[in-house]
Amino acid sequence: MKKQLLLIGGGHAHMVTLANLHAFIEKGFGVTVIQPSEYHYYSGMGPGMLGGTYRPDDIRFATRRLVESKGGRFILGHASRIDPDKQLVHLEGTEEAIPYDVLSCNAGSSVPRDMIRGDGRDIFTAKPIEELLVARQRIVALAATGRITVAVIGSGPSSIEIAGNIHQLCRERQVVMPRIQLFGGRKFLSGRPGRVRRLARRILERKGVEIHETGYVRRIETGRFSLANGQEYQADIIFPAVGVRPSRIFSSSGLPTGPDGGLRVNEYLQSVSYPNIFGGGDCIYFEAEPLDKVGVYAVRQNPVLYRNLMAGLEGGPLEKFLPGGTYLLIYNLGDGQGILSKWSLTFSGRLAFRIKDRIDRRFIQTFQET
Ligand SMILES: Cc1cc2nc3c(=O)[nH]c(=O)nc-3n(C[C@H](O)[C@H](O)[C@H](O)COP(=O)(O)OP(=O)(O)OC[C@H]3O[C@@H](n4cnc5c(N)ncnc54)[C@H](O)[C@@H]3O)c2cc1C
Repeated sequence: MKKQLLLIGGGHAHMVTLANLHAFIEKGFGVTVIQPSEYHYYSGMGPGMLGGTYRPDDIRFATRRLVESKGGRFILGHASRIDPDKQLVHLEGTEEAIPYDVLSCNAGSSVPRDMIRGDGRDIFTAKPIEELLVARQRIVALAATGRITVAVIGSGPSSIEIAGNIHQLCRERQVVMPRIQLFGGRKFLSGRPGRVRRLARRILERKGVEIHETGYVRRIETGRFSLANGQEYQADIIFPAVGVRPSRIFSSSGLPTGPDGGLRVNEYLQSVSYPNIFGGGDCIYFEAEPLDKVGVYAVRQNPVLYRNLMAGLEGGPLEKFLPGGTYLLIYNLGDGQGILSKWSLTFSGRLAFRIKDRIDRRFIQTFQET
């Protein structure tokens, strides 16, 4: 029987592998991809989709079409458990288990929902990105009927991008501008350079966004939420954007993980216990140097992951992943404005957004066209 390559998730770290799927098939290997959606959304452009700058088609890859056109098998489903001894991946809600010789995991991360109570109606997490599309329609529908309150919970890049793009959405759709509140824990954008924090605050406050630094949110339910200090707030729409956590599939499968539950991998992006399991992106814990959960690393891991998967199937030396130095950060704050930061260079305005837009469009078009 042919050797089988199995991919969990067609995320940012699997882009080069997916684009070169035919190379595996031509060498006689079988390739299967498991993903819960037929599309993979590029998160860097997610807030822009919320604001209306991009249409869903502009920011997504047609994973199923790509896989099948290159001779692979696509399974629409959730990988729920890995059995590394039997070399099987189990699927949620079915008895079916998919065999592999080499497995690569790019199952990403999601915003923890632990603090959400009830059915979660009108509560939209920053990830998966598809949530932002549903949120966009809901905000426009509600804001067309009167002034609503939208609360963004969190103090990282995704929270400022979401708040800024809600402003753009409502301005362009000419609905009543909501009261937009951002609950940033104890300190707005903590951990970011002072100049980035000042610029972001100035841009958001000019849009009328209220920034609260009164403490951490502990509990969220439809229409309201409360802080650790007991203060209660009401909001029609709530966005928890409190950071992300890797997929739980590794801890529930008993695989070695890092402190955040990510698949613990060595410098070859290979599980520290199972040499035929690899991974990339937000779902891994890179033992040599824990990495930020940013798409930049997933993108940089692509060629190494591709070559190591091929080496894992064919035999041959593995390549080390070198994370590289500082990365460029550009935030999209809506209304055509961005903040760019790298080394000591930080500036805001239309040019910053245009640079981000250009980089993002070029990236996605490269893979949409393969
Ligand atoms: C709003 C927002 C904006 C961001 N902007 C930027 C930015 O501008 N620049 C930047 O560098 N980073 C940005 N990030 C961070 C970036 O999103 C992540 O670092 C990046 O998505 C990681 O890519 P990934 O492929 O590992 O994971 P993901 O993008 O989460 O992809 C994982 C894939 O796996 C699939 N999957 C999940 N679970 C399973 C399962 N059980 N079985 C099978 N498949 C599964 C998913 O459907 C998805 O296709 C942003 C994040 C957010 C939330």
